[in-house]
Amino acid sequence: MMTLSNWMDRDQEVIMSTYGRLPIVIERGEGNYLYDENGNQYLDLFTGLAVNILGHSHPELSKVLKEQAAKFLHISNYFYNKPAIKLAESLISNSIKGKVFFTNSGAEATEAALKLIHKWSKDQEEARNGIVVLKQSFHGRTLGALKLTRQKSVYQDFPVTDIPVYEVTPHQTDELETILKTHKPAAMIVEPVLGSGGIVTLEEEYIRDISKLCHKYNVLCCMDEIQTGIGRTGEFFAYQHAGIAPDLILFAKGIGGGLPLGGIIVAEKHENLFKPGDHGTTFAPSPLSAALGNAVIDVLLDQGQLKTGTNVATKLHQRLNELKKKHGSIIGDVRGKGMMIGIVMSLDAKAVKDIQARLLEVGVMVDVTQQTIIRLLPPLTLTIEEVERFISAFETEIEKLLRVGQ
Ligand SMILES: *Cc1c(COP(=O)(O)O)cnc(C)c1O
Repeated sequence: MMTLSNWMDRDQEVIMSTYGRLPIVIERGEGNYLYDENGNQYLDLFTGLAVNILGHSHPELSKVLKEQAAKFLHISNYFYNKPAIKLAESLISNSIKGKVFFTNSGAEATEAALKLIHKWSKDQEEARNGIVVLKQSFHGRTLGALKLTRQKSVYQDFPVTDIPVYEVTPHQTDELETILKTHKPAAMIVEPVLGSGGIVTLEEEYIRDISKLCHKYNVLCCMDEIQTGIGRTGEFFAYQHAGIAPDLILFAKGIGGGLPLGGIIVAEKHENLFKPGDHGTTFAPSPLSAALGNAVIDVLLDQGQLKTGTNVATKLHQRLNELKKKHGSIIGDVRGKGMMIGIVMSLDAKAVKDIQARLLEVGVMVDVTQQTIIRLLPPLTLTIEEVERFISAFETEIEKLLRVGQ
């Protein structure tokens, strides 16, 4: 039998080493758990980076997948695609009136947004150029999207587009207004909760300010909901907490229920900017991904999983805040919204990596972002018992550290 180290060696031999991997080989997933080759069980609290919003092998998704797979896997955009039409209808009825363009990934959604923004800017009487983004934002890794991703370690070695980008600090409304007034950008793109930037939640008031100011200065207001969307923060899209209506919404990750799928939703006013030939893709939307997208929405909204999961998320925040109170010397902050949580550790990067590794040993998977922030992106199917299981494992690790420190 192949051992873990065999697989590690084979991986290193043939796959470019662009990722740091956890030292396990997953055999299967079921519900909120993953299982390795030896049958060890892991509570999955990062869901393949905010993708498996309903956990693994959800019976409803498996059923829909089988049905669609028996019909066809791919047909191209030369044909009408029933699952895609239904999905676009649902996305619109749960967000803004307008139209959808589908992609295969988040970065491609950002690229589609960039092209659409460019077309829009050409139609304006007064020249508009450039995009406003937040410090530490993440919008993807393709060369266009990379320009909007303001994390130096991600972009520094690559040539990016010559589209001007203006970086602003979250919650500095005056700074934002000055930029909009003086530079006349075409759009502002923000994550309502910065994901890989360290789970920084934008205040609802600030999101309303963004919307108002964009409107006032004729700038497209774009929400990158690739990580925050599809129920992760408690609303279908996170901007909905603030009660605004953006011009453009980017989505991906959770929508495909595990399959690649993304896209943009564009408000009615701008829905005919793309003309035939302006943009396209061979695969998207895969009928299989779109069929899963419909099932995801059905389970979340019609079957009430969004509500149930959000209640469990509230409990998780509450328990983490109790831990913070008790162990303030180690837990600096607990932030985020719904099933998108950052635990800011008052420890160095190595100590945080060690906690992640030890949690893995006891069967709990968490992510680490910005070196010292433990990121949780649990499925909306998480249960109260699983919250307690995580809290107990996490507190055990904290107590070990405290004992060593004494
Ligand atoms: C993951 C992510 C992207 C990029 O999505 P990919 O599918 O990895 O290309 C863009 N924006 C945000 C906010 C993300 O979290």
